[in-house]
Amino acid sequence: MTQLHDLTAHELAGRLAKGEVSSREATSATLARVEATQALGAYLHVDASGALAAADASDARRRAGAARGPLDGVPVGLKDIFLTDGLPTTCGSKILEGFIAPYDGTAVKRLKNAGAVVVGKLNMDEFAMGSSNEHSAYGPARNPWDPTKVPGGSSGGSAAAVAAGSAFATLGTDTGGSIRQPASFCGVVGLKPTYSRVSRYGVIAFASSLDQVGPLAKDVTDCATVLQAVAGWDPLDSTSADVPVPDYGKDLEAGARGLRLGLPREYFVGGGDPEVRAIVDAAVKAYEKLGAKLVEVSLPTTDYAIACYYLIATAEASSNLARFDGVRYGQRRDPGAGLREMYEATRALFGREVKRRIMLGTYALSAGYYDAYYAKAQKVRTLVRRDFDRAFGACDALLTPTSPTAAFELGKKVGDPLEMYLADVFTVSANMAGLPGLSLPCGFTHAGLPVGLQLLGPHFSEPLLLRAARAYEREHEWAARRARP
Ligand code: GLN
Repeated sequence: MTQLHDLTAHELAGRLAKGEVSSREATSATLARVEATQALGAYLHVDASGALAAADASDARRRAGAARGPLDGVPVGLKDIFLTDGLPTTCGSKILEGFIAPYDGTAVKRLKNAGAVVVGKLNMDEFAMGSSNEHSAYGPARNPWDPTKVPGGSSGGSAAAVAAGSAFATLGTDTGGSIRQPASFCGVVGLKPTYSRVSRYGVIAFASSLDQVGPLAKDVTDCATVLQAVAGWDPLDSTSADVPVPDYGKDLEAGARGLRLGLPREYFVGGGDPEVRAIVDAAVKAYEKLGAKLVEVSLPTTDYAIACYYLIATAEASSNLARFDGVRYGQRRDPGAGLREMYEATRALFGREVKRRIMLGTYALSAGYYDAYYAKAQKVRTLVRRDFDRAFGACDALLTPTSPTAAFELGKKVGDPLEMYLADVFTVSANMAGLPGLSLPCGFTHAGLPVGLQLLGPHFSEPLLLRAARAYEREHEWAARRARP
């Protein structure tokens, strides 16, 4: 029997609209699911009383004939990088332990305005740095399909919660793959919108020229619905785009016939897991059956993407994380020996990976090395962008694997930073070029782990990506499978 927590958000919305279920019931079921799946470590903070109060308010609106749309009364979760009025926001770090923001970030506010019920804050790699959630200061999240495996990162809790049914949809952030890669590891749909599409006001900054907010959900339709709620210009974020927000639901069912889909040669060279590769190849073929035309394209700078990304991201992080100094936010450790000692003792609360990145980034920006590293990386970034411009001259969107492997064992890569960084080879380029990217479940390995297919498109092509993803999804039942943690 399908249980409430197995429904998609739009299925739940349908039942709420018909009065078959109340938001209070859906929220209570979600809270029960959070309890039952606690061992997954998806949540860092659960706001049961706040969620039930929001659910009651939603039910009251509905009774008064004033329901607000498809998310009204739907329980959702937020990566713990989003500032939330009155709830803890730790960003997965000890340095922000006990920090409570005085306001909601714009995306959070918009979700709440749409009537969504915020259940709690989700686990993540500290300051969004990582690909496995193992860099969380509060312990890793686990993969609902196999708890010995990582859920991916850095939005690992956001992906695990959706897969486990402890949220109907979640928000994550993606700086180099942190929505798409965990979506692929957990068998859910994840969308990184175009840089600037969603406001980052009230989102703790990692690398400001790369960070973007986006949805993780059980299917493509739900992704479109959540994006609809959060997208759009925001006077509080000077980098947000003043570009009209289209109706993301409009072309969802338009199919893939006639689409030109590019296969970047450099993304299909091997080196990854052959089983994952075979599953992705089959999904690519399926697009041909759906009437899409496949074309081979080339992204020659792919080899430099990881190096370039890890220079730019660490440089920007070293600057962004200077604000955590024991004076303005969160924890202060003061041995009483002076200001410098206070900074040192406080900043010692950062975890190993965060410290590594601050040091790498500071080095890349320092006098004498700036031109050799940071400035060079910025030039390569321009080349990466040009690669995509050229490719999109020959096709409408690109198809690639999301990750070279399925979810890996906890502990397998955490001791080897370089190995961990290489897991991002297919995702970082989109961030450097500011492009939208979507990860869609496209099959399972023999071991029962999900595999993700990535679609990348030109700036503001979210409607096209959603439509192409939906065309595949409705012919394949992968997205309808549920983990049984
Ligand atoms: N895994 C990448 C990193 O560690 C991407 C992180 C992200 O997108 N936030 O930087």
